[in-house]
Amino acid sequence: MELSVNAQAIAYLISAILFILALKGLTHPSTARRGNYLGMAGMALAIGATLLGAEVQSYGFIIAGVVAGAVIGSVLAARIQMTAMPQLVAALHSFVGMAAVLVAIGTFINKQAADALNPVLMGELSAGVIIGAITFTGSVIAFGKLQGIISGKPVKFSGQHQLNAIIALVTLGLGIHFAMTGSVWSLALMTLLAFVIGVTLIIPIGGADMPVIVSMLNSYSGWAAAATGFTLGNNLLIIVGALVGFSGAILSFIMCRAMNRSIINVVFGGFGGETGGGESAAATAHEKGVKSASVEDAVYWMEDANRVIIIPGYGMAVAQAQHALKELMELLEAKGVEVKFGVHPVAGRMPGHMNVLLAEADIPYDHVQEMDEINPDFPSTDVVLVVGANDVVNPAAKSDSSSPIYGMPILEAGKARNVYFLKRSMRPGYSGVDNLLFYQDNCSLVFGDAKETIEGMVTALKGGGH
Ligand code: NDP
Repeated sequence: MELSVNAQAIAYLISAILFILALKGLTHPSTARRGNYLGMAGMALAIGATLLGAEVQSYGFIIAGVVAGAVIGSVLAARIQMTAMPQLVAALHSFVGMAAVLVAIGTFINKQAADALNPVLMGELSAGVIIGAITFTGSVIAFGKLQGIISGKPVKFSGQHQLNAIIALVTLGLGIHFAMTGSVWSLALMTLLAFVIGVTLIIPIGGADMPVIVSMLNSYSGWAAAATGFTLGNNLLIIVGALVGFSGAILSFIMCRAMNRSIINVVFGGFGGETGGGESAAATAHEKGVKSASVEDAVYWMEDANRVIIIPGYGMAVAQAQHALKELMELLEAKGVEVKFGVHPVAGRMPGHMNVLLAEADIPYDHVQEMDEINPDFPSTDVVLVVGANDVVNPAAKSDSSSPIYGMPILEAGKARNVYFLKRSMRPGYSGVDNLLFYQDNCSLVFGDAKETIEGMVTALKGGGH
């Protein structure tokens, strides 16, 4: 069976609508699952309509590619830890980038053989190669930083921005030269330099700016796909690329706003990555004038509280403490305590990280509030439980203009009557900045793995507490 051009166009149109509905679904946790199903249906229809199209001449390579991809993808999906998701996303962006480069070069070779090159097509090929190559190496570097293979610290040297600007201009010049002449040398050099830009663009970025970079690379991968769509004359790929490109760009702006930084500042900044904090646990804490508390101390104040706010962070994901937190929430609510969760937009290691984990543990959506919504409640809150979060509650962001996170809006946990930090040591969070909240009078650290600590709290509460 071979689809007519019209039937394929209709199938593509339906796919595009399904993708738009999928994005709409993904805007709220309660509809996210449905959004994912709609996206999968759209993708299945798109692949089916493409495979049955007249342009497919043989299925051998396609089947081999699908089987290899499906095996690798299934193994990765089954094995991946929630905490390693950002790296996986970065790695997947790199594939999109490389695919755009390969499709562009493949198209060039085919069209040259058929003597069908023209400046417009070659302009599109230049765009595909440049965006794809930057996405590829940029994502590889982001993957390395998030995986800890490459240091997460910003790599900076003098004249860096000037060097980047020169390489970018030369690459652009080569792209124009290639579009006008079809020179293989221009194509090769342009590809090589675009690979270099991906590296030089991402190495100076570190610390707390990584979330913006991951969503920016997401946006680039969309533009790379759109460029491939132009090269192949595939309307659906253009639409999907633009959807990914724009949603990634919007997400980057939202993340920047959450950190009170401009995109330009992030891209040309190089921020975070200081090392600070001490070695470990109670002894160091004591030396530094930080109070440590026991599970029982925290439980004592929590069960008598009117309101407890829980602030989850990256450490909750590491410890997988969300299910224990749900139990803690239920026990406290049974004692008449109001329990809420306060989620910072950049908590964890990817956008929406905390919301996904809390939803996985069936914590009701109406218990989960965003930063702006919950901040006014802290002064009237008896206990704040900071579960493996750090940077997102650090008052240095407000009070210390020399701090690299200065200006980032925070969850104002320090305004509550009592704050208990659940973490394993005095080590700082992702940005490497010491947390000034540790030294506040109303704050104590409960050392240990977050899940074990919460389970200890659950046991204490079940045992009748105090
Ligand atoms: P942080 O990285 O600031 O702090 C996490 C804390 O969790 C650490 O201080 C660590 O302390 C503690 N921790 C780790 N494992 C455990 C465990 N098993 N049990 C208890 N505690 C644990 O996290 P936040 O969520 O507060 O902030 C996120 C940071 O990550 C921000 O700087 C953000 O910019 C950045 N980021 C965010 C991304 C996103 O998209 N959301 C992507 C990339 C970076 P200890 O070692 O002492 O236990």
